[in-house]
Amino acid sequence: MSLRNYILPGLLIVIAAVVVAAGAVGLVTSGLRGGEGYLDPRIASYWEALDDGYVRCELCPRRCIVPPGGRGYCEVRENREGVYYTLTYGNPCAVHVDPIEKKPFYHFLPTTTTLSIAVAGCNLDCKFCQNWQISQVRPDETYNHVLPPGDVVELAVASACRSIAYTYSEPTIFFEYMLDCAKAARERGILNVYHSNGFINEEPLRELCRYLDAANIDLKGYSDDYYREMSNGSLAPVLRTLRILAEEGVHLELTTLVIPGENDQPEMIREMCRWIHTNLGDSVPLHFSRFHPQYRLLALPPTPVETLEEARRIALSEGLKYVYIGNVPGHEANSTYCPNCGSRVIYRIGYRVDPAGLSTGRCEACSTAVDGVWE
Ligand code: SF4
Repeated sequence: MSLRNYILPGLLIVIAAVVVAAGAVGLVTSGLRGGEGYLDPRIASYWEALDDGYVRCELCPRRCIVPPGGRGYCEVRENREGVYYTLTYGNPCAVHVDPIEKKPFYHFLPTTTTLSIAVAGCNLDCKFCQNWQISQVRPDETYNHVLPPGDVVELAVASACRSIAYTYSEPTIFFEYMLDCAKAARERGILNVYHSNGFINEEPLRELCRYLDAANIDLKGYSDDYYREMSNGSLAPVLRTLRILAEEGVHLELTTLVIPGENDQPEMIREMCRWIHTNLGDSVPLHFSRFHPQYRLLALPPTPVETLEEARRIALSEGLKYVYIGNVPGHEANSTYCPNCGSRVIYRIGYRVDPAGLSTGRCEACSTAVDGVWE
């Protein structure tokens, strides 16, 4: 196991490169040019000019109205004399090879690796953010690589990645860069996966769906109050995003970070699972992830494992077929089981993955098809 250092202003993050069955993965920086600040601003998509040099951004439900010289809430889009720019095109602050299971995707090409990229900034402000070191800063404050879309794809090919993941912070805010990477990836047979908060407007989402192969959306809770208080967002746009992704045929998985005393009420979890079942079907994998104290919720305890197990019981009782417990190493609910006979079809412990119980997408024991993208 090797360690590499990754430097943000005033902060040293040590990232451990992980070795999994699929091969060595880790931080990718060698050979990439880079520098401080935003390096290649481009005219943005999805905005309109208003009076007096103001613009309105139409990329996400926040619909920021931005004065000349100002930036939107996400801090990566700027009004320059009445023209709206994206500041982070081609300038990711994070480039990393990950197991696909880390996103997490459990029903999408298991044991493959994905080239993950992210830029600084976010359109929400979650008190529990796990990547706040990049999501809650401006792109001026991070070390940004120079990596145009074609180079991203070549890096994915050279790293033997089957996919490119738009992830870590919120990929919607670097929409133009993500879209061009996704188009270039398609041409080379590389797949595109998106881990997002789902806070995006319908028109850009439908455009993105033309190039997306899989999406993992954070369904942070099932109440508008929760979204408002914990993330400065709202629930309805996220539910709309989920319906659109399902309708567009994008492989979909969901992640809910369960925070003790905040979104762990059994009634809320049951209602959420009913909504999923009714609107997305019974085969969407749902990941209940364990909270660990960080960012602005340092005073809360980690989620008790029993709380996650109770959430999983509720989801299964509501008819969802694939329900996982994440961030609890070695837990049996980290593996995949046949929805018919209950045999374990994919064994997971950490990022070690063994799909021996699955044969061409079917349970080895009873031949029942297991939902997912396996080849
Ligand atoms: S993408 Fe950024 S600038 Fe645009 S509406 Fe959302 S938060 Fe505002």
